[in-house]
Amino acid sequence: MSRWIRACLLGACCALVACGSDSADGSTEVTQGFDPAALSFPNANLVLISMDTLRADRLGVYGNTRGLTPNIDAFAASAVLFEEAYSNSPKTASSHMSLFTSRLPTVHKVRNQSARLDLLSPTLAGNRLSIAQVLNRAGYLNVGLAGGANVHPDMGFAKGFRGNFSSQLSDFSDQVKSAGKHWRTLRKRPEPSFMFVHSYQVHGPYLPPAELQERFVRTPSPLLEPRVKAFTGLPRHEQWRLMNKGGLNGHPAYWDGKENFGPAEASYLSDLYDAAIADMDVSMGDLFARLENQGAFADSIIVLLADHGEEFFEHGGFEHNALHREHLHVPLLVRLPDGHLGGTRVRGLAQLIDVMPTLLDLLVLEGPDDLQGQSLTSAMQSGRVAGDRPVIAENVMFLPKGEYGGALRNAAGLVIYDWDLSVDPAGRLEAFDLNADPREQSDQLGASDGLQTLAKSLKAVLADAHRLRDLLDATDAGGTMGDNLGADDAAALSQGLAAMGYFGGGDEPPPEVTDAQVAGTPLEDWPEDG
Ligand SMILES: [Zn+2]
Repeated sequence: MSRWIRACLLGACCALVACGSDSADGSTEVTQGFDPAALSFPNANLVLISMDTLRADRLGVYGNTRGLTPNIDAFAASAVLFEEAYSNSPKTASSHMSLFTSRLPTVHKVRNQSARLDLLSPTLAGNRLSIAQVLNRAGYLNVGLAGGANVHPDMGFAKGFRGNFSSQLSDFSDQVKSAGKHWRTLRKRPEPSFMFVHSYQVHGPYLPPAELQERFVRTPSPLLEPRVKAFTGLPRHEQWRLMNKGGLNGHPAYWDGKENFGPAEASYLSDLYDAAIADMDVSMGDLFARLENQGAFADSIIVLLADHGEEFFEHGGFEHNALHREHLHVPLLVRLPDGHLGGTRVRGLAQLIDVMPTLLDLLVLEGPDDLQGQSLTSAMQSGRVAGDRPVIAENVMFLPKGEYGGALRNAAGLVIYDWDLSVDPAGRLEAFDLNADPREQSDQLGASDGLQTLAKSLKAVLADAHRLRDLLDATDAGGTMGDNLGADDAAALSQGLAAMGYFGGGDEPPPEVTDAQVAGTPLEDWPEDG
């Protein structure tokens, strides 16, 4: 018996039709049988907000003291906060698909694209259901508002959205207005609603309004400030075009010469990033107000998270291309209807693959039974994630180049595996004692039996993931990881799989894929399934 049916028999929920009641306009209303004591919110509406590239440690509620996020901090007071939440990839497409499917990047196989490197991503296979598909099948109406680039319909992100999924680079303030309108439209219908909102507002290039730069930048960079000032105020798509190539009025691209940037540039860029976060927080406050005004704080679960963090030279790099804490530690806030359990802080390791099983648990819905994440509902009540399950993260972007990064983190240690076929087919391991070295600066693999044991467990976890991937591939009618690769690339893949059983990460600038706009379909015209 499914969990959904079982819950109905126990009286904890009502089926969409059986327990409906007639409203004044003649439509059938869905009855919500919330039981906060059991963390059971059948038919609750759901809003899932992903702020791309938002490091946890820049939020006041995660300990930052610069006052960047008063609106998010106020929201957090009525939400459950996970102190140690990590993304499963530092790359946008892989991470978001892990969020959507509760599967590691190895298993769902979706990855960032790059026109420059002629890299395409497979589309999500038919037997890896996304949360949008599960909710759709449960009768939810939904809309997806993504920021473009690597949250792209062609990768499978639009599946389950009944044709109403847009993906276009936009200012977050405009997305918020659109989200408010969509939510109002959805809530006129009797069915429960799901809205996904994703924004690149704090992703590079960090070009917040000039007044916020004045306020948060402490020491301008002589190298970078001229180009930053030249690009500030341009339309957002122009700013993105100038991120890695081209130039404007004699100024080079934003990241031009990045390989030679050092601590001074990092400090300046970090302050610009802070200013961008302060700018984003104003719009986030607007989004929260619009949702609250339409009753969402009473009848909806609202989740705020990020797909990965951002590096400012902590490990000699920039942006999000590696697997350390600054790349992967993300905010995770879950606001339950009526602010139930608001203010709870949950200790212990959580990860984005846990979000889907947690939400299905809260909504009393049945999902696939082989999800790789686990429900965090017990942790929300106890304030502690039970057990010592490690967090796994992967960077799978550059399979044809023979690059891969995998990492395993538990409470005591972090092991990172880097494999670059062109340099060393055997790959390279490094490990960090997180108690003695929380900033992950000193490789102690050779000095610690415990860390060597951890390294072995990373390989075992990845081997399990490969088996699950192969099992799913064998039962799916769709394509395989090599679908978009040429013969040489496929050979590199085979060689790589033989070496470690894996595929690609790397130091790649943000993608240059073409944004797609899927026209919104009027609710009345939505097909039954997406
Ligand atoms: Zn991202």
